[in-house]
Amino acid sequence: MSPKLLLVVPCYNEQEILHQTNQKLNLYFDQLLEQNKIDSESKICYINDGSKDVTWTIIDEITKSNSRVLGIKLAKNFGHQNAVLAGLFSFIDQYDCYVSIDADLQDDINAIGEMVAKYSEGNSVVYGVREDRSSDTFFKKFTAELFYKIMDKLGVPVVFNHADFRLIDNKVLKEFANFKEYNMFIRGIIPTIGFPSDKVYYKRLEREAGESKYPFSKMLAFAWKGITSFSTVPMRMVLWFGIINFIISVIIGLFVLSSKLRGVAVSGWTSIVLPMAFFSGSNMIAIGLIGEYIGKIYEEVKGRPRYIIEKISGDDAHQNRNSGR
Ligand code: UDP
Ligand code: MG
Repeated sequence: MSPKLLLVVPCYNEQEILHQTNQKLNLYFDQLLEQNKIDSESKICYINDGSKDVTWTIIDEITKSNSRVLGIKLAKNFGHQNAVLAGLFSFIDQYDCYVSIDADLQDDINAIGEMVAKYSEGNSVVYGVREDRSSDTFFKKFTAELFYKIMDKLGVPVVFNHADFRLIDNKVLKEFANFKEYNMFIRGIIPTIGFPSDKVYYKRLEREAGESKYPFSKMLAFAWKGITSFSTVPMRMVLWFGIINFIISVIIGLFVLSSKLRGVAVSGWTSIVLPMAFFSGSNMIAIGLIGEYIGKIYEEVKGRPRYIIEKISGDDAHQNRNSGR
């Protein structure tokens, strides 16, 4: 029997591309249906992540004319990761497998069929991996690949060149729902859940309309979130930095002391001011870094919902209207 698939598509200010995306996805679903690769009850779910444009109006209209489409309206902008979570967790136990994909379809939709095929072969997770990034600017490619390398070095379990285009089955989704952290970094969590997995390779295309919602500043914030949510290596580095600083200051102390004893102590100014500036600077870095982690702990301890659903349209049957906790 072919699996019942839910496609989860987060949308933030995507009015320029949504119609086009929806058309392509529906055509592709028809194709998969014809080839008997998916169940006829398979659906596409658009999550409006607090868009400021008419994205929700478009989604709502589509759900009314097309019974294959579902829409979730979040109460405000909760960010890409949380929008994906809202789409997944609202439909636990209702589908056999779930694929998340960006609304701009930069990820090749033809990989979805391959993902489903790998699922049918017994895989619970199928990662979409970018084969080449020739469509990305040099800067995006360079920073993104650097990101994966740093993450790997810091011990964060990410799959190289895999973003959030992946299939998970209902078993994995149910386990995933037990990860309650507020700072969710989905691509780091999925590999820690386990179960048989495989990869599908595809070429990343260019965004056809609208602009990237991930400017460099957001990418940096995302990378930092990924690192501090998963790795305490930076804190350990601070500790080592502190130890090295301490050794250096002992050496400087001895030097100053011996100058004093030898009666050549006038040297003064530079040897005082320089180490002072250096050590107070490094102290500040260390405190800031610890503050980052304490801030994370604070956010987690509060246990606030990761997203809030305002309404769901297109599916009046059974929905888990949980609020992301
Ligand atoms: N997105 C979202 N909430 C946000 C930012 C982005 O749901 O706050 C969605 C966006 O609509 C798109 C996906 O996340 O479907 C990826 O964004 P984008 O394509 O702009 O990122 P890029 O591909 O440039 O990294
Ligand atoms: Mg994109």
